[in-house]
Amino acid sequence: MAEAQNKSVYIETFGCQMNKSDSEHMLGLLEEIGYRQAESIKSADLLILNTCAIRAGAEDKVYSYLGAWKKIKEQRPGSLIAVGGCVAQDAGQTLLKRSPGVDIVFGTHNLHRLPDLVLQAQSRGEPVVEIYPELPDDLPETPVVRLNSTSAWVSIIYGCDYNCTYCIVPYVRGREKSRHPDSIVAEVEELAAANYKEVTLLGQNVTAYGHDLNPAQHLGNLLERLGTVDGIKRVRFLTGHPRDLKPEIIDAVASVPNACEFFHLPIQAGDDRTLRRMARGYKVDFYRRLVDQIRKKIPEAAITTDLIVGFPGETEQEFLNTVSLVEEICFDACNTAAYSPRPHTPSAGWGEQVPEEMKYERLRFLNSVVADVSQRRNRRLIGGTVEVLVEGRSNRNAARLTGRTRTNKVVNFEGGDELVGQIVTVRVEAANAWALRGALA
Ligand code: SF4
Repeated sequence: MAEAQNKSVYIETFGCQMNKSDSEHMLGLLEEIGYRQAESIKSADLLILNTCAIRAGAEDKVYSYLGAWKKIKEQRPGSLIAVGGCVAQDAGQTLLKRSPGVDIVFGTHNLHRLPDLVLQAQSRGEPVVEIYPELPDDLPETPVVRLNSTSAWVSIIYGCDYNCTYCIVPYVRGREKSRHPDSIVAEVEELAAANYKEVTLLGQNVTAYGHDLNPAQHLGNLLERLGTVDGIKRVRFLTGHPRDLKPEIIDAVASVPNACEFFHLPIQAGDDRTLRRMARGYKVDFYRRLVDQIRKKIPEAAITTDLIVGFPGETEQEFLNTVSLVEEICFDACNTAAYSPRPHTPSAGWGEQVPEEMKYERLRFLNSVVADVSQRRNRRLIGGTVEVLVEGRSNRNAARLTGRTRTNKVVNFEGGDELVGQIVTVRVEAANAWALRGALA
């Protein structure tokens, strides 16, 4: 493959950790043809927008960015704009019509082809569009440039086999495909050799890991294998479907020392009729039992969730059922969002859409309850000690270091730069809904 000497790339990433991880792989791939990270967007030879389609707002942002980027490109003749990720996967060729300055469109299934596409666009001088309908069976391992030096993402499964009636992910990310455990273990061993202490296993439905392998496996098996990698002190996983969190996975978290006591389990709504209409495949009681199982085996576990308010047809009482469930489960944290109709999803066409104003009113109320509950949960830790992996200086107060507990809680405390990348013990002195504050113990 020809090499592009001394060129630089700027990547803007929208959306979830999977997208952030994909961007690190884009950097790794492009490094192989001579690209390095640009110091600024204006000095870049290649601008990449890695897009997210989960909400209409995120998609609209893509087109407004591309409008602004076209002007930047005009100031730097010869530079290229590439668009990847979920919006690109869905829009394909039509993206060029809406954003004429774009040179390369690639999807979620052909990230590994990026260097070729860049070289093609450079030599042809005309736009290149390449979208694969699904992940190839012989998907190659791709190089990676990691942007975080203490904690690393490792993708273990791609796609999702569910069809929640509001979700565009299965349409743009395809069906579940697990990575072979040997290649995951090899990647984590390399991370340990590079001094990483923490890895987060990623997937749209990480709890389904391994069912499609031959022989079939489960996430618990993988956690057990990763438990033997010297130097890796923490393994987490994000994000899973509650139905796939089998007892053997909870058992592995309870018994494998480096598996973190942290479960992000999206429930989406605390009301049975809404869950049924969302096609989530469980009732609130099922979720309650799951939480009981986790807390029985791992009492110190943190449990977080995702919630959607204003799903089409959601009544005031159904919304209040979600609010009550937040109080009842006492989540450590919740990601909340107002329902956003997406193309290719059944619920987008339903007649009983909740008015925008009402959705946001419900969201505000839910957020106030979530903050109250999270604060209560965090305050229970005051006076005790927590183990913190130090990530760096706090953005809000440079005198403080910031890091995370095994349960994924942010902790801020004073200390020297030599502690970055280390695991330290911090005595918790104060807590709010979002973070703990303390002092080195
Ligand atoms: S399980 Fe998650 S990713 Fe899959 S369809 Fe449902 S919401 Fe989307």
